Amino acid sequence: MAKRRKATHIHQYRRFNIRKSGEEPYFIFKCQIEGCTHHVSREMVVGNQSICWNCTAPFQMSYKATYLAKPVCNNCRSRKYSDTKDDGAKEQQKVMSIEDRLDEILGRDLF
Ligand SMILES: [Zn+2]
Ligand SMILES: [Zn+2]
Repeated sequence: MAKRRKATHIHQYRRFNIRKSGEEPYFIFKCQIEGCTHHVSREMVVGNQSICWNCTAPFQMSYKATYLAKPVCNNCRSRKYSDTKDDGAKEQQKVMSIEDRLDEILGRDLF
């Protein structure tokens, strides 16, 4: 009964840079769901299903989504980038871009 459970979930991808600082970045996407070791290159992740980091809905990864350390679905993307009138959204965007920067810095330090 202690068989390893096969991944039946939709992966939630998070971006990591596996190159050292100063080198051209090479991004991979790892599933962040506990117990899952699934990871793919940036090229391979496009078209895969992923869980949105904002609304947790499943969505199909586009190339644009790979620009985010924590990819979000199209709905959340358009809210994030087009709604400049809403100050709340602006704040959110600021927070998320800082998060992205932190991810890159931390990701670099790991390797
Ligand atoms: Zn997974
Ligand atoms: Zn979403």
